[in-house]
Amino acid sequence: MDMFYSGRLGEKPASSEPEHMEIIPEIETKQRKVIVCLDNGHGVDTPGKGSPWTLCKVKPELPFREYQYAREIVAYLTVCLMNDGYDVRRIVSEDKDIALSERGARINKIVEEANQKGYHTLSISIHNDASGMGNKWMKATGWSVWTTVGQNNSDILAQCLHDAAKEVLHNKNVKTRADRQDGDDDYEKNLAMCRYPNCPAVLTENLFQDNIKDVEFLLSDEGKKAIVDIHHKGINAFVEKMGW
Ligand SMILES: [Zn+2]
Repeated sequence: MDMFYSGRLGEKPASSEPEHMEIIPEIETKQRKVIVCLDNGHGVDTPGKGSPWTLCKVKPELPFREYQYAREIVAYLTVCLMNDGYDVRRIVSEDKDIALSERGARINKIVEEANQKGYHTLSISIHNDASGMGNKWMKATGWSVWTTVGQNNSDILAQCLHDAAKEVLHNKNVKTRADRQDGDDDYEKNLAMCRYPNCPAVLTENLFQDNIKDVEFLLSDEGKKAIVDIHHKGINAFVEKMGW
C-alpha cells in the first residue's frame, strides 16, 4: 500500500459532509482623506540625545536613546493610525540624521500630493525633552507640545494633543507642562519642524530623557502605550474638530 500518496496531488480526501463556503465577515474599511506625516526626530549620529546612563554611564542603569525611542513610537503609532484609515507617512526612513530643511521639503512634497487629490495633511515631529547636558540626572519632568509663534490650525492640533496628554497621563501620575501666557497650553517657538511644513505642524516633547522617573515610565509597556495613545487620540480629536 502506498502510504504517502493516494489520489492527485493537492486533492482533498473525500468528505462525508458537503463542503460549504466559509463566511468571511465584511470588514468596514474607512479610508480617511487625511495624510499624517510622522517625523521620528533625530538620527543615530545626532550627538547627545540620550539618558545620562547611555551618554555618561551615570547610574541608575536606564539605557535610552531619543532617535531609537522616536522610531519605536512612530512604528507603533503608524499601525494604530492605519487601522483608523489614515494615510501615514514616515518622513525619515533612514537611521542617520536628515537635515531639517530636507525633512521640511519631504513633508511639503506630500502636502502638494495631498492638495492634488483633495486630501488634508498634518505633521508631528516626535521627541524627548532634556533639561541638562546628559552627564547627570535632572529634576525637570513632563510632556509638552510646541508650535510656531502666533495662532493658526497648528495651535488647534497642539491643544487636541495636550488635552489627550492630560487624559492619558494625569491618572498615571505623570505630569504635563503648559505655557498659559497666550491662553492655550502649547509652547511657542519657531522650530524648524513647526515652521517648514505647509500644513498644521507641531512638535511633541515626550517627557524628559534625563529624569529617572520619566525614563522609567517611557521604557515601560504602559509608558510606550501612553505616548502612542496621546498622539492617536489627539490626531483623531483634531481631524473631527476640523471636519476632515
Ligand atoms: Zn529632540
